[in-house]
Amino acid sequence: MTGLSKEILIPQPEISRRVQELADQISRDCAGEEILAIGVLKGAFVFMSDLVRAMAVPCQTDFIRAVSYGAGSESSGNVVITKDVELPVEGRNILIVEDIVDTGLTLQSIVDHIKRRNPKSIRVCAFLDKRKRRKVPFEADYVGFSMDDGFVVGYGLDFNEQYRFLPDVYVIRTDVD
Ligand code: 5GP
Repeated sequence: MTGLSKEILIPQPEISRRVQELADQISRDCAGEEILAIGVLKGAFVFMSDLVRAMAVPCQTDFIRAVSYGAGSESSGNVVITKDVELPVEGRNILIVEDIVDTGLTLQSIVDHIKRRNPKSIRVCAFLDKRKRRKVPFEADYVGFSMDDGFVVGYGLDFNEQYRFLPDVYVIRTDVD
């Protein structure tokens, strides 16, 4: 029999501490600027809400959603924007807030999409970075935590739409009896 279990990877107090550090860093770097934070749905919705509340710079918020069509759970590079940003982007300081950079394909497409609207600046903040799995050379400006491999859930991240509500981050394990 094969089943799934989950094991805690990043407990909530550690997440809160790190989110505050990221928010402080962003607030220092963006002092005097007005920011439009764009959260990538759905996975970044919890991170985004914690991050913007911890920041000390004025910030408007919007969301974008991208779907990557391909076999299995891995990004194919065929990324389609299914919900676009609604607020104006031109001439503005953009902070893209994403849950995970994995292959980098999704964020690369989103950044290209936003760049076409002529923002003043673009910064990217990712809660998690799976650096070793890149298929394209993509670097986020701010990273919460780095991890090598494994599939994580909780803190907005799902497995088949489950577990997004969990306050901690867990790694999913496949158990074989
Ligand atoms: P990329 O285009 O960088 O390969 O894909 C990034 C997207 O894949 C993330 O925004 C996220 O939705 C999904 N993803 C990648 N790794 C994980 C993971 O470990 N757990 C969950 N829940 N989603 C993941």
